[in-house]
Amino acid sequence: MADLDVPVLVVGGSLVGMSTALLLGHHGVRALAVEHHRGTAIHPRAAQITQRTMEILRAVGIESIVREKSGEQFVQDGAVVAVETLAGRELGSFIANLNDGIRDVSPCERVFISQSLLEPLLKSRAEELGADLRFATDVVSCEQDGSGITAQIEHRDTGKVETVRAAYAVAADGAHSRMRDRLGIATRGRGVFSRSVTIYFRADIGPLLRGRNYSVIYVNNRTLRGFFRFEKPFERGFLAVNAIGDPENPVTDVAASATEAQCVEWVRTALGADDVPITIESVMPWNAEAASAERYQDGRLFLAGDAAHVMPPNGGFGGNTGVQDAQNLAWKLALVLQGQAEPELLATYDAERRPVGEFTTEQAYSRYVTRTAPYLGTAGLQPVAPDLNIELGYGYSSSAVCRDADESPLHDSPRETKGRPGTRAPHLWLRRDGERISTLDLFGRNFVFLAAPDAGTWCDSVRAVSRQLAMPVDLHRVGADGLHDPEHALLDAYGLTSTGILLVRPDGFVAWRSKTPTGSPSAVAAALAQATARHTLVS
Ligand SMILES: Cc1cc2nc3c(=O)[nH]c(=O)nc-3n(C[C@H](O)[C@H](O)[C@H](O)COP(=O)(O)OP(=O)(O)OC[C@H]3O[C@@H](n4cnc5c(N)ncnc54)[C@H](O)[C@@H]3O)c2cc1C
Repeated sequence: MADLDVPVLVVGGSLVGMSTALLLGHHGVRALAVEHHRGTAIHPRAAQITQRTMEILRAVGIESIVREKSGEQFVQDGAVVAVETLAGRELGSFIANLNDGIRDVSPCERVFISQSLLEPLLKSRAEELGADLRFATDVVSCEQDGSGITAQIEHRDTGKVETVRAAYAVAADGAHSRMRDRLGIATRGRGVFSRSVTIYFRADIGPLLRGRNYSVIYVNNRTLRGFFRFEKPFERGFLAVNAIGDPENPVTDVAASATEAQCVEWVRTALGADDVPITIESVMPWNAEAASAERYQDGRLFLAGDAAHVMPPNGGFGGNTGVQDAQNLAWKLALVLQGQAEPELLATYDAERRPVGEFTTEQAYSRYVTRTAPYLGTAGLQPVAPDLNIELGYGYSSSAVCRDADESPLHDSPRETKGRPGTRAPHLWLRRDGERISTLDLFGRNFVFLAAPDAGTWCDSVRAVSRQLAMPVDLHRVGADGLHDPEHALLDAYGLTSTGILLVRPDGFVAWRSKTPTGSPSAVAAALAQATARHTLVS
């Protein structure tokens, strides 16, 4: 007999585990998330939050508060540059301003907010949506059988052990995932290429910045290779060190020599200032590695976040990719648990997310080599793809997407995906009741049919099917029902004819697009059936 009976157990309650619990709550599933640490993240770690993650946070109602808090912590819209030292020579620029030239593709902007500030915001929204979050608690065992998961959780202070029974479990237990190891899921990739450290320190950095707005500052000199990040009001920050000594043949086991005195020296060298007092707050070792799990699913268990893919921080993709995993999985689990989709839908999580995880991991590695570690060589290195394509232009090919085999490439510019099935439904500004809304504001909870102005016949078919369905489906006809497209941009942006229609999934990805000007209810039902892995939806 279990002490706790829950629909989903989430192992790990950091950035990705917390996001999973939050997104499940958003879809009406009250998950139990169990976290070893006593609270949310104490170290800043991830800070570069992509437009896609902000879109996901917008859908769950916390985009504004995240933006507000981000501005308290970092000057936004900074550059990504390389320097010899902060006081000295600038070696190159990778991004001049984080948001320049990308505002047209999303209602959201890239922001800088550290995990230590973001996680409490995720936590409070997850709790509002019904998640049960247990800190200072370990998952000590986890087994599955034909009908569910049985896990033991143990409170670290009281030693109290409870038995949890869940229908499904998500392992968001980080790069060293014990869950992954217990399941015998191997990882493949480039392995560990540096035993790095992050040095958190206090120093008066403001005068050395000389008014320059930098988000990430790569430091490359004969002593060390790594990167800085500074918080307002420029009295503290961190230096991540990946390699030390001879740039051609460096020492990559940095952690082995990271004494406090040595860390002061490295920070001093990277700042390029001998006379600035430096206080080391803490030193966190971590492995720079690029690896992906060979499977993201084992029966009723799913891997998400660093447990599924671990990548170097260059590009700021790791945590964001994990949030995308959580978003892809949450609605599928919810629909299956609510009886609105067949369990086969869950297999599309691996089919859709693993190629994206592998690609993003390789892209992070390419940035690591080109920005920090050229000594690793370019053999087998993927060319660096545009950041925007990685962040917003990732695509899915699975049985839940009605697409032609030769249709979209996996990654594309979000300006070119144009509503192709398997890609993110594009952002457009519309007007409703005198207010400006994004097309993305129409998505995020239910399946949504988005119809072109003259798609009346298709709309009738959707209404006919909706009446017979147990699940809620939304229909929006642009140019009717008070929804206006002032720029007349819909047809081009979504690749629709004026009589066309498409189906958007709860994660904002296009599942199906009509190929004919009119269609019967059975065509609508067939699209929904495929998107939910159901053989038939209406009789
Ligand atoms: C210096 C640095 C900078 C970075 N910058 C960025 C950035 O700008 N943008 C970005 O997107 N990413 C960035 N990353 C990567 C990002 O930090 C990670 O991808 C992200 O934290 C992964 O989150 P996670 O929840 O998957 O794993 P983790 O954060 O590792 O969390 C796993 C959690 O599981 C818990 N756990 C493990 N086992 C158990 C168990 N048995 N029971 C209970 N709890 C358990 C652990 O306590 C841990 O809290 C950076 C990383 C580093 C090191």
